[in-house]
Amino acid sequence: MTVDARRDELTGVWAELIGQHRAVKVLRRAVASSRQQAEAGRHAMTHAWLVTGPPGSGRSNAARAFAAALQCERGGCGECNGCRTVLSGAHPDVTLVRTEKLSIGVDEVRELVRKAAMSPTLGRHQVLVVEDADRVTERGADALLKSIEEPAARTVWILCAPTMDDVVVTIRSRCRHLHLVTPSDDAVAQLLQRRDGIDAPLAAHAARAAQGHIGRARVLARDEQARIRRDEVLRIPARLTSIGACLVAADNVVKAAADEAAAATQLLDTRERADLDQALGFGTKGARPRNTQAVLKELEDQQKARAKRLQRDALDRVLTELTAYYRDVLGVQTGALVDPMGQEPGVGMINADLREQVATLARSSTPEQTLQRIDAIMQCRVDLEGNVAPLLAVEALMVALAQRH
Ligand SMILES: [Zn+2]
Repeated sequence: MTVDARRDELTGVWAELIGQHRAVKVLRRAVASSRQQAEAGRHAMTHAWLVTGPPGSGRSNAARAFAAALQCERGGCGECNGCRTVLSGAHPDVTLVRTEKLSIGVDEVRELVRKAAMSPTLGRHQVLVVEDADRVTERGADALLKSIEEPAARTVWILCAPTMDDVVVTIRSRCRHLHLVTPSDDAVAQLLQRRDGIDAPLAAHAARAAQGHIGRARVLARDEQARIRRDEVLRIPARLTSIGACLVAADNVVKAAADEAAAATQLLDTRERADLDQALGFGTKGARPRNTQAVLKELEDQQKARAKRLQRDALDRVLTELTAYYRDVLGVQTGALVDPMGQEPGVGMINADLREQVATLARSSTPEQTLQRIDAIMQCRVDLEGNVAPLLAVEALMVALAQRH
C-alpha cells in the first residue's frame, strides 16, 4: 500500500487517528456490522470496548471517533449533525466522562449505569465513554460490571486506559480490547501542520521532541514557554559540575514543576470553591455553619492532591526529557546513531538540536556511565512514586548525573 493510499483511509471522524490504521479498520468494521445487524432487526455488536495505548497516542480521540461513527448515518463522515454533536460533547446519547479528579467513585458510576440502561433518544446507540477507566475505584468497578455483563440492546461502553493492567480484571476480561500504537514523528508532524497550522520545521521539531505524544507535541509547537522550559531541562546535564550546581539545578527543577502545577490548578480551584459555596447556599461573606467545614476541608484536600499529582506529572516530563537526552548520548557512544557531527548531523537523534553537547558528553564519558545515569533517572521516578519528597529525590538524581572529572 502506498503512503498516499494509507493517508486517504483516515477521513471523516478518523482523520486525527494518525498511525492507527489497524485500530481504525477494526472500529470501522464494528460500525459497519452494527449497521447490518440493525437492518436485520438485531443488535448484536460488542457492548464493551477497552481502548489502551501509551499516553498521547490518542485514546480519547479514538473513543470519541468511534462513538460518532456509531451514531452517524454514514459511518463517521465527520460532517453531519450527529458526528459534530458527538465530537463537541453535545450529543444526548453519548456521555463523555473525563475527570480532573483522582478517582471515579461508585456514585458517579451508578449514574452512568442508569444512563446505560436507557434507550437512545435520537441516535442509534446509547454510548458511554470513560476516558480514565483506570481511575474507577474498586466499588465503582463492581457497579460497572453488571451493566457490562448484561447490557441493554443498544448500549455501547468505551473505556480508555493506558494499559490492560490498569483496569481491574473482571472489567477488562469482558471488554473487546483495542490497542493503539505510538505514532511516528512524521505522522505527528503532519498532523500539527494540517490541523494546527504549524509550519513544517517547528512541527518536525515538536514531533521529535515529544516522542510520539500528540498532545505534548501540540503544546511544544504552540507554547513558547513550554519550549523554553524544555530547553532549560536539556541544559542541565552540562551544568552539573559541582555539588553546589547539582543542588541549584534540583531546586530549579522542583520549583518550576510546582509553578507549572499551580498555574494549571489555580483557575480550577477558584471555580470549584465558588461552585461549592453556591451549593452550600452562601456567598463569600458571613459565618459558615459547622457541618460545612468538613465539606470545605474535603475539597481542599482534593485540590491539594491534584496539585501534587500535576507537579509529579511535570517532574515526570523532566525525567522523560533527560532519559531521551542520555539515550542520544548512549546511541552515539555505541554507534547505534551516526556521528552527530558527521555527514548527516543529528539523524535519528531525539535532541538533534543539541548534537554538539551530546557529542561532547559522549566523548567524555563511557557507555557504562551513561547507563548508570539512565538507571538513576529510573530510580528517581520510583522514588517520586514512592512519595519521597520531590526535592530530595531530584537532588539525589542531579548528584548521580553530575560529571566526574
Ligand atoms: Zn456523520
